[in-house]
Amino acid sequence: MKANYLCPICRTYLNVGDQIVISAKNEKGVKGLLLFSIHLGDYEINKHPNFDIEKNENLSMYCPCCHKSLRYPKAHKNIFKILMQDDEDQEYEILFSGIYGERCTYQIHEKKVNTFGQDASKYINFNNLIDMS
Ligand SMILES: [Zn+2]
Repeated sequence: MKANYLCPICRTYLNVGDQIVISAKNEKGVKGLLLFSIHLGDYEINKHPNFDIEKNENLSMYCPCCHKSLRYPKAHKNIFKILMQDDEDQEYEILFSGIYGERCTYQIHEKKVNTFGQDASKYINFNNLIDMS
């Protein structure tokens, strides 16, 4: 499926090729770029080998264009949000965990939630998620 991903604040396209570019900061305050797959449920993340992130590290993530935080504490303090447009220009909220190695993604549109990843049950509080959409 052809999809575009946008910053929810400045609405810049975040996907280049088949990857989503996100600016990140690890717990030590070191910054780096993360490349996520555009395919929901694919958790392969590319980064520079010198950008050290430990499993379970609590990342901060930012739009690479407007530098605003993508954190979405209304859902949960570990959850971040970007937007997705599918090939019919339908817009979805994409919520995902900022804990490195945690696999959970929520695709939300008009109170319908699709979940991806083996850790998706961890943050499931659909009322919480849905209230925001
Ligand atoms: Zn932005």
